[in-house]
Amino acid sequence: MYNQAIETLPLEELRALQNQRFSKMLRRIYHHVPFYNALFKKQGIHLEDIKGIEDLPKLPFTRKTDLRDNYPYKMFASPMHEIRRIHASSGTTGKPTVVGYTHNDLEVFDEVVARSLVCAGAKPGMKLHNAYGYGLFTGGLGMHGGATKLGMAVIPVSGGMTDRQLTILQDFTPEVICCTPSYAQTLAEECKKRGIDTEKLAVKYAVLGAEPWTEAIRKQVEEGLNVTATNIYGLSEIMGPGVSQEDFEEKGTGSYIWEDHFFPEVVDRDTGKPLPYGEEGVLVFTTITKEAFPLLRYWTNDICSIYYDEKAKRTHIKMSPIKGRADDMLIIRGVNLFYTQVEEVIEQFDFLVPNYQLIVTREGTLDNVLVRCEVAEGVNINDPKFVNLLSQKIKNTIGLSMKIQLESIGSIPRSQGGKLSRIVDRRN
Ligand code: ADP
Repeated sequence: MYNQAIETLPLEELRALQNQRFSKMLRRIYHHVPFYNALFKKQGIHLEDIKGIEDLPKLPFTRKTDLRDNYPYKMFASPMHEIRRIHASSGTTGKPTVVGYTHNDLEVFDEVVARSLVCAGAKPGMKLHNAYGYGLFTGGLGMHGGATKLGMAVIPVSGGMTDRQLTILQDFTPEVICCTPSYAQTLAEECKKRGIDTEKLAVKYAVLGAEPWTEAIRKQVEEGLNVTATNIYGLSEIMGPGVSQEDFEEKGTGSYIWEDHFFPEVVDRDTGKPLPYGEEGVLVFTTITKEAFPLLRYWTNDICSIYYDEKAKRTHIKMSPIKGRADDMLIIRGVNLFYTQVEEVIEQFDFLVPNYQLIVTREGTLDNVLVRCEVAEGVNINDPKFVNLLSQKIKNTIGLSMKIQLESIGSIPRSQGGKLSRIVDRRN
């Protein structure tokens, strides 16, 4: 572990630490962020009534629209001369939100990424092939800082230019790679296409995040690149990558949230009421150590559950893989649908590979989904048996009839380095 004392802190002590940090944070936002000051006054919230983290449900949420309304710097709790870096969310769903970091914030960022890297299998002395985009996106520089802090040699490849990525993977002998899961799929496929013997590559660990992914992609990437692949989660508003990370020896059991810095809640997406551990809802974070850009109950829109895992190496709470963003959820004939649900079905068939796309169309008042999915080598796309198997399974598990179009390898768009959009909405 990178920080064993903190990562295994007994829960009681962790709560005490969180409470102490939370109380400081509340004062900070009240006194330094006009938005919160006005909101507390408007809602009649008195700081002395908030005894600790257990009172969070009494406090309002912060939403993306609040950040947009205060664009670019009005949510900052530190004066500009204390800001050392500015990032912006990648703007996947609209105008970017601008976030700032003080020197201490960057130290915390490095720390949580260093913890995450160790959790993913990395060690000091290893080399990190960093294929997250550098720039305003927090992925590139975020991973860079944490790896440097851990004592790794960073190869700042950034996203895209697949030829160069493959040369670097072979010649620079990185032991760890980080990128989006969809780009890891692209790299795995390209290795195969070019006859690169992945047994000979030094790379052992892949740290994948920035978009939802399931076991189907894990399998493809682990086999295709000969690595152990784990999940890293984060968002610019809260910090960047390294808000949570899956352990390479506890794969499939969820990702640890570094809750000494980011306090999570999962709430009902309609009522905002906190849900019990294990129930699926919207993930909400309160940053308890951030200086420049502290957020109270930030509504991430990401759907997952949180729970304690008593068999785990660390004491921190875990989160399940993100099913999708609430605003990416499709409602098809009254049924809620995330694309990861289709991916989970695809995983169950050896004749399919998880290169897929959902095309949504409207006929009259009815919405339809066409699943385009590629098949494994040697599989006949015209054999109706395969279409039937997939469409039956989708119908039985998701409860929707979808049209299926099987395609040969290479037909469906690939990630060129960043986040991949798997839904094509043709309804308008
Ligand atoms: P944007 O919201 O513009 O994409 P970010 O680059 O900050 O901005 O991306 C953060 C979002 O990316 C998260 O809120 C989440 O939806 C998604 N994300 C990040 N990591 C993961 C992950 N490991 N699994 C699923 N989704 C992820």
